Amino acid sequence: MTHEEIREFLGVYALDAVDPDERIVVDRHLRECARCRAEVQDHRETAAMLAHTGGDAPDGVWQRIADSLEAPPPGLRLVPVDAAGPRRSRRLPQVMLAALAAAALVVAVLVIQVRHQERRIDELQTALHDPLTQVFQAALADPDSEVFELSSADGRTTLRGVVTADGTGYLRASSLPRLARDRTYQLWGAAGDRLISLGVMGPRPGIVSFRAEPYSTFAITEEVGAGVVVTTNHPIVAGGTA
Ligand SMILES: [Zn+2]
Repeated sequence: MTHEEIREFLGVYALDAVDPDERIVVDRHLRECARCRAEVQDHRETAAMLAHTGGDAPDGVWQRIADSLEAPPPGLRLVPVDAAGPRRSRRLPQVMLAALAAAALVVAVLVIQVRHQERRIDELQTALHDPLTQVFQAALADPDSEVFELSSADGRTTLRGVVTADGTGYLRASSLPRLARDRTYQLWGAAGDRLISLGVMGPRPGIVSFRAEPYSTFAITEEVGAGVVVTTNHPIVAGGTA
């Protein structure tokens, strides 16, 4: 194969998606051709970076992927099997499939990473712009407020809360593990040995506000999505101002 023909293979080769006999041909060419060696190195660095660091794709990578997806498949021209031999007639389509699979894989990795980053940015912006974050900070700083903690029995999870002078409670619940969408955390106030529901917090609560008065002891349970009137579950965290 010529330099130009070999170049067609380099992307697939860099992703280890060539047949063993194609690998031998490419290996032999790479020993003689510095330009192709540099190109393989480039492909590998791009693939490694996309797979591990989540950095931006280098200039032109989207275009190259798009080109490889849109390029007319050269091997799909119909060739009579008896004229060309079975090997040539199936060889190029197989390579094309491998190339498309490699390109699709890179696209998938990029899409996942972009989505992941978007979600992190969303969460960050929500936290920054959530008015409850500012109200919570102000309540914590207010000397008339009472700060409390809710802790798990094993002491691994501790949530910080505050009750202001007017009896409003705020609780930062973002360190609770996320629940499935059909589950919810529910906040309770303790009245003697009874728990009174103060509110359903959803499966992924951030900062919640609630009517804390007249309670001084609080607990959180995990319940079915709409919440329950009377819980039979053990609290995940509990504690209070008293
Ligand atoms: Zn070359």
